[in-house]
Amino acid sequence: MTEPSIYLDSNATSQIHPRVVEAMMPYLTDQWHNPSSGYRAGQKVKASVERAREQVADLIGAHPNEIVFTGCGTESNNMVIKSLARVIGRKKSRVVVSEIEHSAVLRPTEAMAAVGFDVERVGVDSDCRLRLDHFADAVVDDRPGFASIMWANNETGVVQPVAEAVEITKAAGWHFHTDAIQAVGKVPVRVDEVPVDFLSISGHKFHAPKGVGALFIRKESPFEPMIRGGGQESGHRSGTENVPYIIGLGEAAAIMKSEMENGGLDCVAALRDRLQTGLSQRLDRVRCNTQPGSAPPCYTAPNVAHLSFEGCVAAEMLPKLDAAGIQCSAGSACMTGKAGPSHVQKAMGFSDERAYSSLRLSLSIFTTEEEIDRAVDIIAEVARECCVEAVE
Ligand code: PLP
Repeated sequence: MTEPSIYLDSNATSQIHPRVVEAMMPYLTDQWHNPSSGYRAGQKVKASVERAREQVADLIGAHPNEIVFTGCGTESNNMVIKSLARVIGRKKSRVVVSEIEHSAVLRPTEAMAAVGFDVERVGVDSDCRLRLDHFADAVVDDRPGFASIMWANNETGVVQPVAEAVEITKAAGWHFHTDAIQAVGKVPVRVDEVPVDFLSISGHKFHAPKGVGALFIRKESPFEPMIRGGGQESGHRSGTENVPYIIGLGEAAAIMKSEMENGGLDCVAALRDRLQTGLSQRLDRVRCNTQPGSAPPCYTAPNVAHLSFEGCVAAEMLPKLDAAGIQCSAGSACMTGKAGPSHVQKAMGFSDERAYSSLRLSLSIFTTEEEIDRAVDIIAEVARECCVEAVE
């Protein structure tokens, strides 16, 4: 009997937690009523949606009224960026993002640049951390503006100096958004400690289903809705709520809060370290592309190993790994099949050769030690094979 594949691509999407499925089921069966309906069945569903809002708020230290449910992380990012574009206006304003943002921030800000906004991208160092000095130079206080800096990078897992960036931005009187989609549920993300104005969340990155997200909008932050209609979600995002998925998102938020409080993510970090160490012991030419360990100031999300395999081409390794039972990726899932090296690794100053030789291995609370040990054997074998082929 062939062994099941080992899933090491949790930054692309994560396995739905069985308790999330269980929590959602009643809302796909008996409790299908519209939460805006005034009769008791509708109001019961509404109460469950509000409970989910509390669970999401609780995970990030927000007030429930500051949470708006959305259709996905991409929607959350677009909602904020398009709203802020209207708030700051095109004339004399400026927008600052990092070079390593996800396409869900880069594409909407490119669209702003195309219609005349002054959009500046700030680089990162070779450890994938935002260059704060360059950021401070780009944020100018004589013009209205906003900055959008991700909390953790989706390819490398590197956590960005968001608190420092917020401080610089606030001193200039600007608005601040963070795409925290790869950070929430993995590293502490607290809006009561770090005063971001807006924060994007995506359910499928932490064991809720795909197609549900949330946006934190700090009380009194200016916001222009992108989707107008019946006034659901306090008028910030109209449309009848996707109740089962919202309930799933709430449950996943509660699960991940408890996992973080009870050491679940420390176990994930230990497995990630075991994977990195195991591969470095087996192979001479494997390089960890981020700083080791989980301690600030330069730390990575506990579930990500970003490694380059000198002499190999990741695109050639991936089908062999898949055939041998490892599901992983070379960069972000939405970049699969796109030509050119990853923009994140280019921003880190990597040569094309090094960028093309990199794999992203992303774990989750479901990854086991047995899987990691088997993964080390398989990846080492495939890397040796691909390296020999490259030399021949
Ligand atoms: N931002 C980051 C950092 C991501 O990793 C992703 C998904 O890969 C997104 C945004 C998009 O989120 P969604 O898939 O929910 O639209």
